[in-house]
Amino acid sequence: MPRPIVARINLAALKHNLSVVQRYAPHSKRIVVIKSNGYGHGLVRVAKALSTAEGFAVLSVDEARALREAGIKNPIMLLEGFFSEDEVADAVQYRLSVVVHRLEQVDMILSAKPKTKLDILLKLNTGMNRLGLTGENLRRALAKVANSKFIETITLMTHFATADDAQGVADQLRTFNRLVEGLAYARCLANSAAIIRYPEAHGDWVRPGIMIYGCTPFAEGSAQEFGLKPAMTLQSEIIAVQQLKKGDRVGYGGVFSAEQDMRIGVVACGYADGYLRQALTGTPIIVHGKRTRTVGRVSMDMMYADLSAIPEANIGSPVVLWGDQLPIEEVAKAVGTVNYELLCALATRVPMSEVDG
Ligand SMILES: *Cc1c(COP(=O)(O)O)cnc(C)c1O
Repeated sequence: MPRPIVARINLAALKHNLSVVQRYAPHSKRIVVIKSNGYGHGLVRVAKALSTAEGFAVLSVDEARALREAGIKNPIMLLEGFFSEDEVADAVQYRLSVVVHRLEQVDMILSAKPKTKLDILLKLNTGMNRLGLTGENLRRALAKVANSKFIETITLMTHFATADDAQGVADQLRTFNRLVEGLAYARCLANSAAIIRYPEAHGDWVRPGIMIYGCTPFAEGSAQEFGLKPAMTLQSEIIAVQQLKKGDRVGYGGVFSAEQDMRIGVVACGYADGYLRQALTGTPIIVHGKRTRTVGRVSMDMMYADLSAIPEANIGSPVVLWGDQLPIEEVAKAVGTVNYELLCALATRVPMSEVDG
């Protein structure tokens, strides 16, 4: 028997969540964001499951190459474009569309003289101040690429900083519309939060990330209220049980001491698996189908669950860290972070299995 931890990926849930995107944005094509190993779900696995998506977005040429080598034929977009001129040839070879967020990237394309025309997305800074051209530089870029023999299509793009909170997208959308006035190119704006909340920001292409994985982009509320289904269940088992007397302490630092006589289970999951060490006593966890709490400090390979109210739990009992029965948002909230960080922190040493339904 191997170590019992596994991340179970539900392919049917991924497909279902892609259809939810279509329900929210019926007139937009979908570039599914699969950066960071498909938010921890497996780059190639997600792409294969979602072959009906109109495109995929990744960060690096390496990820794009892995997708092409796995036989993925859909359009692939590089979210940050080129990092150097030699990547222009890679973009041609792997048929990648590229974001252009600074003028130098235009010059890289033109001086590389690609043999096949490239699809580019001109990214505008509309207030997030992370990546993107100013309005002035957009016009400079267009002067160089609008009739270039090296360019196939041009798409106008921006990214919202506050689509998930009360500020919304109005300011950035107004800025975007002002900067692109009179330009008839396709538009690509919305992340998951904007897909769900702001139809006026949908444009021709949407860029769903977190919602594809069945998670909510918002700080409050559940993914379920949008009809999303969690695609990942991180599960393990109890590998030891300890009977504690009142006052007995648990784990490194002995930071938890038993309030009364109680049983605890040792779970095969630790921070080297990606479970955050910031999770303190009281983080929700499911043992033997029942919700309980973690106790003590998370160690590298193990952690502890309170079994006081679960007498039927024993060595071999199933444990759910998040996923089915326990929304990842509840764990994230208890840890003081967001679902995104928990998913991306999942370690490569955690084996994955697939279910379809
Ligand atoms: C990561 C990313 C997305 C997806 O965002 P979600 O909130 O996960 O939907 C969309 N666009 C860009 C530019 C991104 O970097």
